Order: sequence, then structure tokens, then C-alpha cells
Amino acid sequence: MKLTFLGAASGEVTGSAYHLRTAEAEVMVDFGMFQGGRRADTANRTKALRDAPGLAAVLLTHAHLDHCGRLPLLARSGFKGPIFSTDATREIAGLILRDSAHVQEQDLVRTNRRRERAGEPALDVLYTAADVDSILRSFRAVDYGRVVPVAPGMQARFVDAGHLCGSACIELTVNEGGRTRRIIFSGDLGRANTPMLRDPVHFSGADVVVLESTYGDREHKPLAETVAEFESIVQQAVARRSKILIPTFAVGRAQLMLYLLAIMFRNHKVAPFPVYIDSPMAIEATNICARHVDLYDDEFQALQQQKPLAEDMRTVRAVATTEESRRLNDISGPCVILAGSGMCTAGRILHHLKQNLWRPGTSVIFVGFQGRGTLGRTLIEGATSVNILGEPIAVKAQIHTMGGFSAHAGQSELLEWFGSMAASRPRVIVTHGEERAREAFAGCIRERFGLASERPQVGDTVEL
Ligand SMILES: [Zn+2]
Repeated sequence: MKLTFLGAASGEVTGSAYHLRTAEAEVMVDFGMFQGGRRADTANRTKALRDAPGLAAVLLTHAHLDHCGRLPLLARSGFKGPIFSTDATREIAGLILRDSAHVQEQDLVRTNRRRERAGEPALDVLYTAADVDSILRSFRAVDYGRVVPVAPGMQARFVDAGHLCGSACIELTVNEGGRTRRIIFSGDLGRANTPMLRDPVHFSGADVVVLESTYGDREHKPLAETVAEFESIVQQAVARRSKILIPTFAVGRAQLMLYLLAIMFRNHKVAPFPVYIDSPMAIEATNICARHVDLYDDEFQALQQQKPLAEDMRTVRAVATTEESRRLNDISGPCVILAGSGMCTAGRILHHLKQNLWRPGTSVIFVGFQGRGTLGRTLIEGATSVNILGEPIAVKAQIHTMGGFSAHAGQSELLEWFGSMAASRPRVIVTHGEERAREAFAGCIRERFGLASERPQVGDTVEL
């Protein structure tokens, strides 16, 4: 059997895609989008799959775009098989892929204008909303823990990865010519003790482990410390009657913020104040997650038993239209506005920043990673003036940066998760990390468990 790496392997973290071929069948684990500039765009176009008609099935670990974003390409290339995922992943992937198709159709207009000026031929859209609808019909829901036949000679078991609602690590048991191999795909691995989410499930053994290493060279602050820090920033901002802006991704982080605020209200850490979800996508993601509360951890279930969390969220308002969003300009604090994008590169958060950054009474809380070159990064690095939507804006607001809310396991958390399988001495393949992180993490595995790791490049194939 052969495993080919079609993304997230050359020292990058996007484009996750693993192609497994035996004499009897071929399957793909994840088919994610490359993200970050023109090179990624080219990779999405050129690294499409030649053998899609031969694919028996796709297994999807979770709904983030860098894991599911190229799936609609399969709709056009003759793929007829099922896509296995948890039900929550199917719903969230639908939301994320529809948004992606929309963003690409918009981007393409801009790109083609540029290409026309340069005398280059126009590009076709990567995929459309119709491709997304078509591929969504191929999804088959699987429950955590159940063994499901996915292709001739292959069975899969999805378990909770604790990374995002519905996220999974996948154990694939592959039989070829009487020989059986147990292959574990970590997907993106979450952290133990994350609020709401269950802890990542451990495996007892494996023949091969394909392991992510996003934070393979770093540790995170303990989550309890991060939550306490968040609460204290919110309390201080509320005492100043601040308008609190939280730039956030619509899926995952936005729901975590709502949950933390609800708990603060319940525990009387702060008197309830208006919280605006100013993002149609975050509103829909919140509704999807609300339909899957059974996936959340014991602490969440206990709180929900005591009193429905909806009662703590009576001051939460969904802001659907841009007109309603504009009306938030006129309200005064204390209040929280959750809006995207998470790195302030686009979206409604830009308008709120433009209207409020110059006011000393404003607080901005960054709760996610801010990539180089983004407005978010410029702000956390202490700029005193920024350009927003073509206008110079003075920065008088209080800017708070919180680094501890990562949805990915840190170094020791990755090692702990892998540790439960180490005694079976599996073959270790480290992917989904920048080269420095992969190398450092491979070093840790050698030191701790005496096991060598492979660090494949995109396009590499290994014989298992
Ligand atoms: Zn992810």
C-alpha cells in the first residue's frame, strides 16, 4: 500500500490531503485548500487530483477550510463515492465551503481585472456554489467510535480530536493481500481541558501514525490561565464602560467567546451586558453548534443541566444585516461586538475598527493568531496610526493580545497524545507544521520514545 502526501507536507500547514492506495482501493483523507497568497492559489489549481474517478471514498477529519477546501473540485472530476465525516463536520463544512465559493467568485473578478491589464488570459473560477451543493450530497455521517467499512479492505473509526465541534482523528484499518495495517491520522489535534470541547481521544497502538505538528516546537500557556486573563480584561473594560471589539473567526473561536461570556454572567463575574454576534456566518455556525451540544464535554453538560446556557445568553444579539451592523456605531458601552475576520483583513470588523479605534474608551481583544502583514498584527505590534478602508485612523483604543486560546495541541500535549501509542513502536510521519516545528517535534519523539520520524514533502509517496 502506498501513501502520497498532497498537501500540508512541505513545511506548511495548509492543503492537508493524504492519498492511500492499495491493490483493491484508493481513498483520500482530507482534501484541504492551500491558503496564503498567489502561490497557494496556483497550488489549488494545479495540484488537483488526476485520479479522482478511481477514488472509492474520502474521509474528512474536520471542517476547517485547509482540510476540506478542495473537496468541491472532486465534483467536477468524476468522483462518485461517499465522503465520510461526523454529522457536525458535514454541516460546518457546508457553511465553510459555501463561503469559500463566494469569496473565490469575488476574488476572481479582481484577479481577472489584473490579468487583463497585464495581457494575461482570464482564469476560471476554482469552483462555484453549485459544485459545493453537489459535493455536499456525497457526505455520509459517521458516529464517533463506530467502525465503518469505507472501501474494499478498509475500515475507519472516527474519534473526537477535541479541536473543533465534530472534529476527528481517524483510525484506518487496511487489509491488503491478507496483511493488515492500522494507520492513525491525527487530523488537527486539540488540547485537553479546552472549554466546551471534549479532550482528544487516545489510541492504544498503531502501525503508522501521521501526526500534525503545528505547535511541535512550542508550548501554550495553561488554558485556565488564559481564561482568567480573558475574564480580567473583560471586567476592566466593562468597568470603563468600553465598547469591546473582538475580531474572531466565525467558526469555533466565536462560540468559545460566547460560552466564556455566558459563564461570566452566570457566575456574576460581571453584570450581563449586550453581546453582538455581528457576522451571518458566526450566527449560522453558532446555530449548528447548538444542534450538536451532545458533542460537548461533561462540564458543559453539567452546566446545561443546572440551567440552560441560553438563559445566560439573553443579552446576546444576532446582527444579520449590514444595516443592523451600521447601527452598532451609535450604541455605547459596555458591550461586546464579535466580528470577522479574525485577523482584520476584511469583513465587518474593519468598519467597527474605523469607527472606534480612535476613541480611548474602546477595547480591542485579540484572541487568535495574527499573521504577518495583517492589520491585526500591526495593531498588536503597537501601531499608533493605521490605514483602514483608505483612511488614516489614530489608535487610541486599548489593545489586548491573548495568545493562549489555540485550538491546536502544544508540544507536550502532542507528545502526550502520541505517547499512548509509542509502545507499539509505530512508523511516525510528521506533517502539518512549519519546518522548524516539524524538526523540533521529530527531535522530541526521538528523545522521548527512541523513534525516528519521517518528514515528507508534498508529492512524496511512501510504501507502508
Ligand atoms: Zn483545523
